[in-house]
Amino acid sequence: MAEESQLHHRAGRQGAAAGSPAPAHLLEMRRAALRVCLLVLAALGRPGAGSEHDEEHDGEDLSHSPEKGPGHSHWSYEEREHWGEDYPDCAGTLQSPINIDMSRTIFSPQLRPIQLSGYSLPAKEKLRLRNNGHTVQLDLPESLAITGGYAQQYRAVQLHLHWGSLSGRGSEHTINGHRFAAEIHVVHYNSKYDSFNEAMVHPDGLAVLAAFLEVGPRENPYYQEILEHLYKIQGEGEEVWVPGFNIEGLLPANLKFYLHYNGSLTTPPCYQTVKWTIFNQTMLLSHDQMSTLVMTLRNDDNKPLQNNYRPVQGLHRRQVLSSFQTTAKQLPPGNEGSTATEGHTSSSFHAGDVLAVLFGVLFAITALAFLLYILKHRSQNTRLDSPGKSKVIYTAATTENTA
Ligand SMILES: [Zn+2]
Repeated sequence: MAEESQLHHRAGRQGAAAGSPAPAHLLEMRRAALRVCLLVLAALGRPGAGSEHDEEHDGEDLSHSPEKGPGHSHWSYEEREHWGEDYPDCAGTLQSPINIDMSRTIFSPQLRPIQLSGYSLPAKEKLRLRNNGHTVQLDLPESLAITGGYAQQYRAVQLHLHWGSLSGRGSEHTINGHRFAAEIHVVHYNSKYDSFNEAMVHPDGLAVLAAFLEVGPRENPYYQEILEHLYKIQGEGEEVWVPGFNIEGLLPANLKFYLHYNGSLTTPPCYQTVKWTIFNQTMLLSHDQMSTLVMTLRNDDNKPLQNNYRPVQGLHRRQVLSSFQTTAKQLPPGNEGSTATEGHTSSSFHAGDVLAVLFGVLFAITALAFLLYILKHRSQNTRLDSPGKSKVIYTAATTENTA
């Protein structure tokens, strides 16, 4: 145990911030990669003693550094089907991400609005932004905290993103089978523990705030605070110190409407100690910003760092709670919030439903108009030549596509 504590301490944030030389650097990189995934799985975690033992063992492996592969990264998205072989929790039943079937979520009035404290940072406070080979990670000071919405207080550790490619979407969680363009995770640990490394092996250890990213009409100034520096950290392990900004701007303005479930880190060691919060509102980035996100970084093989998301995992017996009512299949009151957010967010989960209805109505009108046209002109058919009819058919199809 003593050895483990030491290892955990060594891998702690403090050491990293101190900017130690090469070996510590490698440790740090590994640690960063690990942090990303650990957060997800923990929440539902089997509190059993057996699983805890496994978890600690994994934690040790992480700090130690690893076994496979040259370089640092002992796991890859290409081998995600085999993560469970080296990290047993990755094959557990409380894994993340998951697909969320909105019709099966359970409304829980006890889910209070998420409250954040200390998220607005002055520019003079520099934050480390790093390409760890798996994602871009922004380290956060412990002064940032979740002070409401969870039963306990959680301190921030880091945030990172998951994305696809120019041609494919890359959020980790999906809603009714729909994958979003990208997803942000803000990782926190329970303040009753002394460190992230200690917290991540306990069932109530971690909390991750997640939001979906989509392409919108305008540049998002908050995300730009990160994206404008990516070209300086294209290679794996590269880092840059960036000015502080209002971190809360990376999350939706409306923190009342969210989904909640217990899951795991979405990368090895997949600890099942994460209480997930997934916001209803979607963040909007410009097309150029999304392109920058998916095209700039390279992974440990010096290939484009893309599609860094894990496939959805089995729900098993878990339930997903909702802070808002969805039974009527109507837009939740959260919609008010989306209009009040300067165009950097949009309502998310129900957009698909609305579009489907809209499309259906437009299609019905088009079809009806076309039918009426046919009926009306049937009598004149003898006088009309076929080119004219073709034109009508074309027009109808075009209208449909536009809808
Ligand atoms: Zn993540």
